Amino acid sequence: MQLIFATNNSNKLREAQQILPGVQILGLEDAGIHDELPETHETILENSKEKAEYLYNKYHINCFSDDTGLEVEALNGAPGVYSARFAGPQKNSDDNNSLLLQKLQGVENRKARFVTYITLIINGEEHIFEGEMRGSILPFRTGNGGFGYDPVFCPEGYDKSVAELSPEAKNKISHRGRSLQKMAEYLGTIGK
Ligand code: IMP
Repeated sequence: MQLIFATNNSNKLREAQQILPGVQILGLEDAGIHDELPETHETILENSKEKAEYLYNKYHINCFSDDTGLEVEALNGAPGVYSARFAGPQKNSDDNNSLLLQKLQGVENRKARFVTYITLIINGEEHIFEGEMRGSILPFRTGNGGFGYDPVFCPEGYDKSVAELSPEAKNKISHRGRSLQKMAEYLGTIGK
């Protein structure tokens, strides 16, 4: 079976392929799709649905999308749906991490969580899978792996950042890994 993943992020594509070895996963560019996908809503769930629905309605293909947000307790859940654009429209991870560390300077409560919603559209039916990873924001960046906020996020029960975990270890506990595992279980139940 082939599924189009509504992303060009090579990290995300690798994570998904690891969890779904029996499925051929193609990114947007691999599938010859060069559209800028819409993300016009105020919630992560709605943005996730919007991307998959756009692809399905335009191309009539089996596909899934993900949308992720980082919610920081001391910032009342920010950056949340604005996680990619936290430090501005350039969507730069280094700028986002700098702003986050700056906002949390001297703040004691560093609790945070990542949440991902995956929207799968298969044979015209829509299914949503949620995953979360709880943890805390470190006072500095550490590690070279992963992407995005990984260098500043320490998962609950760990003493290192996500950027210091192997890709396999991240995938077992991460928000996207967990939601992908739920999607894999669902695909198993329908014999895919
Ligand atoms: P999006 O779902 O790709 O739009 O992600 C929103 C923001 O969260 C972006 O700034 C991403 O870099 C960041 N992000 C998404 N997934 C992860 C992850 O697994 N680790 C760290 N940051 C992530």
